[in-house]
Amino acid sequence: MIETNTQTPIEKVTFQNSSYLIKRDDLIDDHFSGNKARKLFYYLHHDFKDIDTIVSYGSQQSNAMYSLSVLAKLKGVSFIYYVDHIASFLKEHPHGNYYYALKNGMQMIEGKMPTHFEDNICFIPEGGAMREAEYGVSLLGQELAALDVDIFLPSGTGTTALYLQKHLKQRVYTCACVGDSAYLKSQFLALQKDEDLHPTIITLDKKYHFGKLYREFFEIWIKLKEETAIEFDLLYDPLGWMHVTKYKHDFQKPLLYIHQGGLIGNESMLLRYKRRFSEDN
Ligand SMILES: *Cc1c(COP(=O)(O)O)cnc(C)c1O
Repeated sequence: MIETNTQTPIEKVTFQNSSYLIKRDDLIDDHFSGNKARKLFYYLHHDFKDIDTIVSYGSQQSNAMYSLSVLAKLKGVSFIYYVDHIASFLKEHPHGNYYYALKNGMQMIEGKMPTHFEDNICFIPEGGAMREAEYGVSLLGQELAALDVDIFLPSGTGTTALYLQKHLKQRVYTCACVGDSAYLKSQFLALQKDEDLHPTIITLDKKYHFGKLYREFFEIWIKLKEETAIEFDLLYDPLGWMHVTKYKHDFQKPLLYIHQGGLIGNESMLLRYKRRFSEDN
């Protein structure tokens, strides 16, 4: 059983001559970690009653997909996951989140998801962008409530950052990894009308596309690993740290960076990075 009530540690690191605190939510559990675990705690801590199947959708290598496969296994229910398309390379060489989710019993369906579900289905929106996420994120908030810090975490759907700010007095900073700041703002508004309760979005001049490979992403990821001895995620954290290092003199207080897990997904990302950058040069 996963010990979801134990607090995760906070570590002090130095990166590029500045000190940071790292909230190690990647250490919640080897298989159920980071913000996906936080967002799904609600389902772990509440009875499923007549539910026998979890249904969700999204991309074929998503961190949320893998975490849902773990949740389904823990709850003893089926897991059906819809994708637009499964790449033939992935079908032939299953790896990363896709491989491990299949191993947990995920049934992946290529094509359109039904628009209506019977009562035996628990439907979870893409990336866990849902009100139930507040429960687990508020527990993270409790663990941070007494600290005199500024907080940063990179956003996808923005659900984690939004609910964290809602439950904390400290200022929560974030950046948009999926879409731009306007998209992220619209995600915040969908969950919370009062803009005073929104996290603060910081930006870079250059536009980066989600899921694309950038040499500077890989470089900062390697440097982080060398200097802090912590492995970060390759999809969100490189952009997160690029924002943090750009704004490091603007934060008022010591900065606490939230490590949101996602390390199983690094397997497929590393494969892509290695293929790309060893061919180009
Ligand atoms: C999913 C994920 C995010 C984005 O979380 P949101 O709540 O959708 O903003 C950030 N980092 C990692 C490692 C993730 O897996």
